Amino acid sequence: MTVARILRTKGRDVVTMLPHNSLRDVIDVLAAKRIGALVIASSDGKMQGILSERDVVRAIALHGADALEDPISHYMTANVVTAEEDETVLGVVTKMSNGRFRHMPVVKDGNLVGIVSIGDAIKHRLAQIEKEHSELKEYIATA
Ligand code: AMP
Repeated sequence: MTVARILRTKGRDVVTMLPHNSLRDVIDVLAAKRIGALVIASSDGKMQGILSERDVVRAIALHGADALEDPISHYMTANVVTAEEDETVLGVVTKMSNGRFRHMPVVKDGNLVGIVSIGDAIKHRLAQIEKEHSELKEYIATA
């Protein structure tokens, strides 16, 4: 099962913000959209980084509530690990687990085409394992 399959189910919308937007803007969007991370892109659409709820917590722990007025660019992770649509879900889960993060933007020809969370990936992986399990049971029963 590939990343493309997850995107077919969940859609390809990716919430993006500009590097100069504030952390306060971020928390409003994260809360309103009920998401844990968003992609930071320049006005021409080029990916600049990723910022998750963990970065917001860290910023406030370090600088207090004043951090909310700072630009996203101060706290985002600029070195973003991305996935391709034809990567397997297992490969993506492994990358997230090794990198200790829970979100992976998906790119095609350098353009952002979706985002996958660890929750999306685990849900699809479990469904695949269950399908394989019942196919195997059926095969054994009819053999
Ligand atoms: P998360 O587990 O996604 O909340 O993110 C934990 C930390 O990893 C935060 O500092 C994020 O900015 C960073 N992060 C999240 N996703 C990625 C990614 N795909 N590539 C690199 N860093 C990431």
